[in-house]
Amino acid sequence: MSLDLTASPLPPGSTIGILGGGQLGRMLSQAASRLGFNVVILDPEENSPAGRVSQGQIVAAYDNDTALTVLGQTCQAVTFEFENVPAASVERLLRGGAVVSPDPKALAVAQDRVEEKTFLNAVGAPTVAFTAVDSLDDLIAGLERLGSPALLKTRRDGYDGKGQVWVRSAKMAGDAWAAVGERPAILEARAAFVRELSVIAARGRDGRIAVYPLGENIHKGGVLRTTLAPAVVDPGTDRRAWAIAKAILEGLDYVGVLGVELFDLGTGKLLVNEIAPRVHNTGHWTQDGCVCDQFEQHIRAIAGWPLGPTSAHARVEMTNLLGDEVEQWAKLSGKANARLHLYGKAEARPGRKMGHVNRVKPL
Ligand code: AMP
Repeated sequence: MSLDLTASPLPPGSTIGILGGGQLGRMLSQAASRLGFNVVILDPEENSPAGRVSQGQIVAAYDNDTALTVLGQTCQAVTFEFENVPAASVERLLRGGAVVSPDPKALAVAQDRVEEKTFLNAVGAPTVAFTAVDSLDDLIAGLERLGSPALLKTRRDGYDGKGQVWVRSAKMAGDAWAAVGERPAILEARAAFVRELSVIAARGRDGRIAVYPLGENIHKGGVLRTTLAPAVVDPGTDRRAWAIAKAILEGLDYVGVLGVELFDLGTGKLLVNEIAPRVHNTGHWTQDGCVCDQFEQHIRAIAGWPLGPTSAHARVEMTNLLGDEVEQWAKLSGKANARLHLYGKAEARPGRKMGHVNRVKPL
Protein backbone atom coordinates (compact mmCIF):
# COMPACT_ATOMS: atom_id res chain seq x y z
CA MET A 1 0.00 0.00 0.00
CA SER A 2 1.45 3.38 -0.83
CA LEU A 3 0.58 6.49 1.14
CA ASP A 4 -3.08 7.36 0.91
CA LEU A 5 -3.74 10.68 2.58
CA THR A 6 -7.43 10.56 1.78
CA ALA A 7 -8.26 7.22 3.42
CA SER A 8 -9.98 7.71 6.75
CA PRO A 9 -8.72 5.89 9.84
CA LEU A 10 -10.01 2.38 10.33
CA PRO A 11 -12.67 2.49 13.07
CA PRO A 12 -12.68 0.15 16.08
CA GLY A 13 -14.76 -2.91 15.26
CA SER A 14 -12.89 -3.39 11.97
CA THR A 15 -10.96 -6.59 11.38
CA ILE A 16 -7.20 -6.78 10.93
CA GLY A 17 -5.54 -9.81 9.33
CA ILE A 18 -2.06 -10.97 10.34
CA LEU A 19 0.04 -13.40 8.32
CA GLY A 20 1.90 -15.44 10.92
CA GLY A 21 0.78 -16.73 14.30
CA GLY A 22 3.93 -16.56 16.43
CA GLN A 23 4.68 -14.35 19.41
CA LEU A 24 4.94 -11.17 17.38
CA GLY A 25 1.50 -11.83 15.88
CA ARG A 26 0.20 -12.56 19.37
CA MET A 27 1.42 -9.27 20.82
CA LEU A 28 0.17 -7.37 17.74
CA SER A 29 -3.20 -9.05 18.19
CA GLN A 30 -3.34 -8.12 21.88
CA ALA A 31 -2.55 -4.48 21.04
CA ALA A 32 -5.18 -4.44 18.27
CA SER A 33 -7.73 -5.94 20.60
CA ARG A 34 -7.07 -3.19 23.15
CA LEU A 35 -7.93 -0.64 20.47
CA GLY A 36 -11.21 -2.39 19.73
CA PHE A 37 -10.22 -4.25 16.56
CA ASN A 38 -10.93 -7.84 15.71
CA VAL A 39 -8.00 -9.94 14.50
CA VAL A 40 -7.83 -12.96 12.20
CA ILE A 41 -4.55 -14.89 11.97
CA LEU A 42 -3.37 -16.95 9.01
CA ASP A 43 -0.93 -19.65 10.10
CA PRO A 44 -0.48 -23.30 9.06
CA GLU A 45 -0.05 -24.39 12.69
CA GLU A 46 -3.27 -25.07 14.54
CA ASN A 47 -3.68 -23.30 17.87
CA SER A 48 -0.85 -20.86 17.19
CA PRO A 49 0.26 -18.43 19.94
CA ALA A 50 -1.45 -15.56 18.08
CA GLY A 51 -4.49 -17.58 17.04
CA ARG A 52 -5.31 -18.33 20.66
CA VAL A 53 -5.71 -14.65 21.57
CA SER A 54 -7.53 -13.62 18.39
CA GLN A 55 -11.11 -13.74 17.11
CA GLY A 56 -10.17 -16.36 14.57
CA GLN A 57 -7.43 -18.27 12.85
CA ILE A 58 -7.39 -19.63 9.33
CA VAL A 59 -5.29 -22.80 9.49
CA ALA A 60 -3.69 -23.03 6.07
CA ALA A 61 -0.44 -22.61 4.21
CA TYR A 62 0.58 -19.01 3.46
CA ASP A 63 0.14 -19.63 -0.26
CA ASN A 64 -3.29 -21.27 0.01
CA ASP A 65 -5.50 -19.46 -2.49
CA THR A 66 -8.80 -19.95 -0.67
CA ALA A 67 -7.30 -18.91 2.65
CA LEU A 68 -5.92 -15.72 1.12
CA THR A 69 -9.27 -14.93 -0.50
CA VAL A 70 -11.12 -15.38 2.80
CA LEU A 71 -8.54 -13.32 4.69
CA GLY A 72 -8.70 -10.51 2.13
CA GLN A 73 -12.50 -10.47 2.19
CA THR A 74 -12.75 -10.57 5.99
CA CYS A 75 -10.14 -7.96 6.84
CA GLN A 76 -10.06 -4.21 6.24
CA ALA A 77 -6.28 -4.17 6.74
CA VAL A 78 -3.71 -6.95 6.46
CA THR A 79 -0.16 -7.08 7.80
CA PHE A 80 2.50 -9.68 8.60
CA GLU A 81 4.66 -10.64 11.56
CA PHE A 82 7.59 -12.23 9.70
CA GLU A 83 9.52 -11.23 6.62
CA ASN A 84 9.59 -14.55 4.83
CA VAL A 85 5.95 -14.30 3.75
CA PRO A 86 5.89 -15.49 0.12
CA ALA A 87 5.81 -12.45 -2.17
CA ALA A 88 3.20 -14.24 -4.29
CA SER A 89 0.81 -14.39 -1.30
CA VAL A 90 0.97 -10.64 -0.82
CA GLU A 91 0.49 -10.11 -4.57
CA ARG A 92 -2.54 -12.41 -4.37
CA LEU A 93 -4.02 -10.38 -1.49
CA LEU A 94 -3.42 -7.11 -3.34
CA ARG A 95 -5.03 -8.45 -6.53
CA GLY A 96 -8.09 -9.33 -4.45
CA GLY A 97 -8.32 -5.69 -3.32
CA ALA A 98 -6.90 -6.13 0.20
CA VAL A 99 -5.07 -3.24 1.88
CA VAL A 100 -1.68 -4.69 2.84
CA SER A 101 0.99 -2.81 4.72
CA PRO A 102 3.91 -2.46 4.87
CA ASP A 103 4.24 -2.42 1.10
CA PRO A 104 5.54 -5.72 -0.38
CA LYS A 105 8.61 -3.82 -1.58
CA ALA A 106 9.82 -3.94 2.02
CA LEU A 107 9.50 -7.75 1.95
CA ALA A 108 11.41 -8.05 -1.31
CA VAL A 109 14.23 -5.94 0.13
CA ALA A 110 14.37 -7.70 3.49
CA GLN A 111 14.20 -11.22 2.04
CA ASP A 112 17.44 -10.94 0.11
CA ARG A 113 20.61 -9.71 1.83
CA VAL A 114 22.17 -8.43 -1.41
CA GLU A 115 19.02 -6.49 -2.37
CA GLU A 116 18.84 -5.20 1.19
CA LYS A 117 22.37 -3.82 1.34
CA THR A 118 22.10 -2.41 -2.19
CA PHE A 119 18.91 -0.59 -1.21
CA LEU A 120 20.39 0.64 2.06
CA ASN A 121 23.45 2.13 0.39
CA ALA A 122 21.24 3.73 -2.28
CA VAL A 123 19.26 5.64 0.39
CA GLY A 124 22.45 6.68 2.19
CA ALA A 125 22.32 4.11 5.01
CA PRO A 126 25.89 2.80 5.34
CA THR A 127 26.66 -0.94 5.58
CA VAL A 128 29.80 -3.09 5.55
CA ALA A 129 31.37 -3.68 2.14
CA PHE A 130 29.86 -6.77 0.53
CA THR A 131 29.73 -8.83 -2.63
CA ALA A 132 27.26 -11.32 -4.07
CA VAL A 133 28.57 -14.89 -4.18
CA ASP A 134 27.16 -17.42 -6.64
CA SER A 135 30.12 -19.76 -6.91
CA LEU A 136 33.33 -20.79 -5.19
CA ASP A 137 35.23 -18.55 -7.63
CA ASP A 138 33.11 -15.57 -6.56
CA LEU A 139 33.89 -16.38 -2.93
CA ILE A 140 37.64 -16.52 -3.54
CA ALA A 141 37.54 -13.25 -5.51
CA GLY A 142 35.39 -11.67 -2.77
CA LEU A 143 37.85 -12.67 -0.05
CA GLU A 144 40.64 -11.02 -1.99
CA ARG A 145 38.66 -7.82 -2.26
CA LEU A 146 37.15 -7.65 1.25
CA GLY A 147 39.98 -9.32 3.20
CA SER A 148 39.54 -12.01 5.81
CA PRO A 149 37.97 -12.85 8.08
CA ALA A 150 34.74 -12.19 6.23
CA LEU A 151 31.25 -13.50 6.87
CA LEU A 152 29.50 -15.66 4.29
CA LYS A 153 25.71 -15.65 4.66
CA THR A 154 22.96 -17.18 2.55
CA ARG A 155 21.16 -14.45 0.62
CA ARG A 156 17.75 -15.71 1.72
CA ASP A 157 16.11 -17.48 4.67
CA GLY A 158 18.78 -16.69 7.25
CA TYR A 159 17.83 -15.55 10.74
CA ASP A 160 19.26 -15.58 14.27
CA GLY A 161 22.76 -16.27 12.91
CA LYS A 162 21.64 -19.34 10.92
CA GLY A 163 23.03 -19.96 7.42
CA GLN A 164 26.25 -18.05 8.03
CA VAL A 165 29.91 -18.94 8.44
CA TRP A 166 33.09 -16.98 9.07
CA VAL A 167 35.75 -17.47 6.41
CA ARG A 168 39.11 -16.89 8.05
CA SER A 169 41.35 -17.55 5.05
CA ALA A 170 41.17 -18.45 1.36
CA LYS A 171 41.99 -22.05 2.37
CA MET A 172 38.63 -22.27 4.14
CA ALA A 173 36.66 -21.08 1.10
CA GLY A 174 35.67 -24.57 -0.12
CA ASP A 175 34.39 -25.65 3.31
CA ALA A 176 32.54 -22.37 3.79
CA TRP A 177 30.86 -22.64 0.39
CA ALA A 178 29.76 -26.18 1.29
CA ALA A 179 28.58 -25.00 4.73
CA VAL A 180 26.05 -22.59 3.21
CA GLY A 181 24.85 -25.37 0.92
CA GLU A 182 26.41 -23.83 -2.23
CA ARG A 183 23.41 -21.52 -2.31
CA PRO A 184 23.36 -17.91 -3.53
CA ALA A 185 25.15 -16.01 -0.79
CA ILE A 186 26.61 -12.70 0.28
CA LEU A 187 30.14 -12.15 1.55
CA GLU A 188 30.36 -9.37 4.10
CA ALA A 189 33.45 -7.58 5.38
CA ARG A 190 33.82 -7.88 9.13
CA ALA A 191 32.29 -4.99 11.05
CA ALA A 192 34.67 -4.04 13.87
CA PHE A 193 31.87 -2.94 16.13
CA VAL A 194 32.09 -2.10 19.83
CA ARG A 195 28.44 -2.86 20.43
CA GLU A 196 25.19 -3.63 18.66
CA LEU A 197 22.36 -1.13 18.73
CA SER A 198 18.94 -1.06 17.16
CA VAL A 199 16.37 1.52 16.36
CA ILE A 200 12.64 0.89 16.12
CA ALA A 201 10.81 3.41 13.98
CA ALA A 202 7.35 3.84 12.52
CA ARG A 203 5.79 5.69 9.64
CA GLY A 204 2.10 6.47 9.51
CA ARG A 205 -0.20 6.56 6.53
CA ASP A 206 0.18 10.35 6.53
CA GLY A 207 3.97 10.04 6.16
CA ARG A 208 4.69 11.11 9.75
CA ILE A 209 7.61 9.34 11.38
CA ALA A 210 8.11 8.38 15.02
CA VAL A 211 11.35 6.89 16.33
CA TYR A 212 11.94 5.20 19.69
CA PRO A 213 15.12 5.70 21.72
CA LEU A 214 17.90 3.28 20.74
CA GLY A 215 18.33 -0.13 22.34
CA GLU A 216 21.68 -1.79 23.05
CA ASN A 217 21.58 -5.49 22.24
CA ILE A 218 23.53 -8.44 23.54
CA HIS A 219 23.48 -11.59 21.41
CA LYS A 220 24.65 -15.11 22.27
CA GLY A 221 25.13 -17.68 19.55
CA GLY A 222 23.46 -15.33 17.06
CA VAL A 223 20.30 -15.07 19.20
CA LEU A 224 19.23 -11.94 21.07
CA ARG A 225 19.57 -12.35 24.87
CA THR A 226 19.10 -8.87 26.25
CA THR A 227 18.18 -5.35 25.19
CA LEU A 228 19.08 -2.39 27.39
CA ALA A 229 17.02 0.67 26.61
CA PRO A 230 17.18 3.55 26.24
CA ALA A 231 20.81 2.86 25.31
CA VAL A 232 23.32 5.32 26.69
CA VAL A 233 24.49 7.09 23.53
CA ASP A 234 25.78 10.52 22.65
CA PRO A 235 23.40 12.87 20.84
CA GLY A 236 25.33 12.41 17.56
CA THR A 237 24.70 8.65 17.57
CA ASP A 238 21.03 9.25 18.27
CA ARG A 239 20.78 11.72 15.41
CA ARG A 240 22.57 9.41 12.96
CA ALA A 241 20.35 6.44 13.87
CA TRP A 242 17.22 8.54 13.47
CA ALA A 243 18.40 9.83 10.09
CA ILE A 244 19.12 6.26 8.94
CA ALA A 245 15.66 5.08 10.05
CA LYS A 246 13.99 8.01 8.29
CA ALA A 247 15.86 7.39 5.04
CA ILE A 248 14.84 3.71 5.06
CA LEU A 249 11.18 4.38 5.91
CA GLU A 250 10.88 7.00 3.19
CA GLY A 251 12.86 4.95 0.66
CA LEU A 252 10.39 2.10 1.08
CA ASP A 253 7.31 4.35 1.24
CA TYR A 254 6.79 2.36 4.41
CA VAL A 255 3.69 2.17 6.61
CA GLY A 256 4.11 0.40 9.95
CA VAL A 257 6.89 -0.38 12.42
CA LEU A 258 10.37 -1.26 11.20
CA GLY A 259 13.39 -2.60 13.11
CA VAL A 260 16.90 -1.55 12.10
CA GLU A 261 19.91 -3.43 13.53
CA LEU A 262 23.03 -1.30 13.79
CA PHE A 263 26.72 -1.80 14.44
CA ASP A 264 28.26 0.96 16.55
CA LEU A 265 31.88 1.23 15.42
CA GLY A 266 32.74 3.40 18.43
CA THR A 267 34.13 6.08 16.14
CA GLY A 268 30.86 7.92 15.82
CA LYS A 269 30.02 5.79 12.79
CA LEU A 270 26.99 3.48 12.56
CA LEU A 271 26.53 0.73 9.99
CA VAL A 272 23.22 -1.01 9.29
CA ASN A 273 23.42 -4.79 9.74
CA GLU A 274 19.90 -5.59 8.63
CA ILE A 275 16.34 -4.38 8.65
CA ALA A 276 13.17 -6.18 9.70
CA PRO A 277 9.93 -4.98 8.08
CA ARG A 278 7.91 -5.71 11.21
CA VAL A 279 7.87 -5.33 14.95
CA HIS A 280 11.18 -6.53 16.35
CA ASN A 281 12.47 -8.47 19.35
CA THR A 282 14.75 -5.53 20.27
CA GLY A 283 11.62 -3.37 20.57
CA HIS A 284 9.93 -5.49 23.26
CA TRP A 285 11.26 -3.12 25.94
CA THR A 286 8.77 -0.49 24.71
CA GLN A 287 5.93 -2.51 26.26
CA ASP A 288 7.02 -1.39 29.70
CA GLY A 289 9.17 1.63 28.87
CA CYS A 290 6.87 3.72 26.66
CA VAL A 291 3.27 4.90 26.74
CA CYS A 292 2.69 3.51 23.24
CA ASP A 293 4.63 0.31 22.58
CA GLN A 294 5.82 -0.94 19.18
CA PHE A 295 2.84 -3.29 18.81
CA GLU A 296 0.22 -0.60 19.30
CA GLN A 297 2.32 1.69 17.11
CA HIS A 298 2.23 -0.80 14.25
CA ILE A 299 -1.52 -1.24 14.56
CA ARG A 300 -1.99 2.54 14.69
CA ALA A 301 0.12 2.98 11.55
CA ILE A 302 -1.58 0.32 9.44
CA ALA A 303 -5.03 1.46 10.61
CA GLY A 304 -4.26 5.04 9.59
CA TRP A 305 -4.42 6.36 13.15
CA PRO A 306 -2.03 9.04 14.37
CA LEU A 307 1.22 7.57 15.66
CA GLY A 308 1.63 7.42 19.43
CA PRO A 309 4.38 8.93 21.59
CA THR A 310 7.78 7.20 21.55
CA SER A 311 9.65 8.75 24.46
CA ALA A 312 10.71 6.47 27.33
CA HIS A 313 9.27 6.88 30.82
CA ALA A 314 11.45 4.10 32.28
CA ARG A 315 14.70 2.26 31.73
CA VAL A 316 14.13 -1.36 30.74
CA GLU A 317 16.30 -4.47 30.59
CA MET A 318 14.55 -6.97 28.34
CA THR A 319 15.72 -10.56 28.54
CA ASN A 320 14.47 -13.34 26.30
CA LEU A 321 13.37 -16.56 27.97
CA LEU A 322 14.70 -19.31 25.72
CA GLY A 323 13.74 -22.98 25.97
CA ASP A 324 13.39 -24.19 29.56
CA GLU A 325 14.37 -20.76 30.95
CA VAL A 326 10.61 -20.17 30.82
CA GLU A 327 10.38 -22.38 33.90
CA GLN A 328 11.68 -19.39 35.87
CA TRP A 329 8.21 -17.88 35.51
CA ALA A 330 7.20 -18.60 39.11
CA LYS A 331 10.33 -16.96 40.54
CA LEU A 332 10.10 -14.01 38.14
CA SER A 333 6.43 -13.48 38.87
CA GLY A 334 7.33 -12.69 42.47
CA LYS A 335 9.90 -10.02 41.60
CA ALA A 336 9.00 -6.36 41.93
CA ASN A 337 9.63 -4.43 38.68
CA ALA A 338 9.86 -7.59 36.55
CA ARG A 339 7.11 -7.74 33.97
CA LEU A 340 6.57 -11.14 32.38
CA HIS A 341 5.41 -11.64 28.81
CA LEU A 342 4.81 -15.32 28.02
CA TYR A 343 3.84 -16.56 24.59
CA GLY A 344 1.72 -19.57 25.56
CA LYS A 345 3.86 -22.04 23.60
CA ALA A 346 3.37 -25.61 24.77
CA GLU A 347 6.74 -27.11 23.96
CA ALA A 348 9.93 -25.51 25.37
CA ARG A 349 12.39 -26.75 22.73
CA PRO A 350 16.03 -25.68 23.32
CA GLY A 351 16.61 -22.11 22.11
CA ARG A 352 12.93 -21.51 21.32
CA LYS A 353 11.66 -18.05 22.26
CA MET A 354 9.10 -18.82 24.98
CA GLY A 355 8.69 -15.39 26.51
CA HIS A 356 10.59 -12.39 27.78
CA VAL A 357 10.89 -10.41 30.97
CA ASN A 358 11.14 -6.63 31.14
CA ARG A 359 12.94 -5.42 34.25
CA VAL A 360 11.86 -1.86 34.76
CA LYS A 361 13.85 0.85 36.54
CA PRO A 362 13.34 4.57 36.88
CA LEU A 363 14.95 6.67 34.12
P1 AMP B 1 22.48 -11.46 11.24
O1 AMP B 1 21.82 -12.80 11.11
O2 AMP B 1 22.89 -10.87 9.95
O3 AMP B 1 21.67 -10.50 12.08
O4 AMP B 1 23.81 -11.71 12.09
C1 AMP B 1 23.79 -12.25 13.41
C2 AMP B 1 24.90 -11.64 14.24
O5 AMP B 1 26.18 -11.91 13.62
C3 AMP B 1 24.87 -10.12 14.37
O6 AMP B 1 24.00 -9.74 15.41
C4 AMP B 1 26.33 -9.80 14.65
O7 AMP B 1 26.64 -10.06 16.01
C5 AMP B 1 27.07 -10.79 13.80
N1 AMP B 1 27.38 -10.22 12.46
C6 AMP B 1 26.56 -10.22 11.38
N2 AMP B 1 27.16 -9.62 10.33
C7 AMP B 1 28.40 -9.24 10.73
C8 AMP B 1 29.49 -8.59 10.09
N3 AMP B 1 29.47 -8.23 8.80
N4 AMP B 1 30.61 -8.36 10.85
C9 AMP B 1 30.67 -8.73 12.15
N5 AMP B 1 29.68 -9.38 12.79
C10 AMP B 1 28.55 -9.63 12.12
